[in-house]
Amino acid sequence: MPLPHPTAADIERAIRNVPDFPKPGIQFKDITPVLADARLFNGCIDLLIDGFKPGDVDSVVGIDARGFIFAAAAAVKLQAGFVPVRKKGKLPYQTHEQSYDLEYGSATIAMHVDALHPGSRVLLIDDLLATGGTAAAAIALMEKLGAKILETSFLIELKFLDGRKRLGGHPVRSIVAY
Ligand code: AMP
Repeated sequence: MPLPHPTAADIERAIRNVPDFPKPGIQFKDITPVLADARLFNGCIDLLIDGFKPGDVDSVVGIDARGFIFAAAAAVKLQAGFVPVRKKGKLPYQTHEQSYDLEYGSATIAMHVDALHPGSRVLLIDDLLATGGTAAAAIALMEKLGAKILETSFLIELKFLDGRKRLGGHPVRSIVAY
């Protein structure tokens, strides 16, 4: 029997705020209580892909590491492929890389050069949209391979950081906003 659907408010109640992790001043949004609850986890995936059905999407791209959890489950539900965007140095084959600025310093993410095909219909999924730097870098990699980005979806959006303005005008969906 299908699990009854949670609302965004049900999911929000399960997200645990951990102050000062991993460093002072950060309010870390811990999604593990959501993942541990079958009804909430399943409901998150349905909300992240609402409006898409099998056949609409060729690939779901997930961002290292919590994004993998949601993107892989979404890919299975949509009968689409799953593509990982990883931190530099983790993927074994030839990659394209993209660097982006962090508060202090910079980071680099990578995608296999043959992960997506020109014109392929792709969703990008991550757990959380903060400044948008990570997702913007992932979008640059997807566009380098000529993919058609249908939507970018996040379980959580930190609205006050206005990360969505960095996502190149692609549709942005978030389930829980702070
Ligand atoms: P950003 O590039 O600033 O949009 O940061 C997004 C990435 O950092 C996501 O992959 C998140 O997993 C992680 N992240 C940023 N801020 C938080 C936070 N407050 N709680 C949990 N994860 C975060």
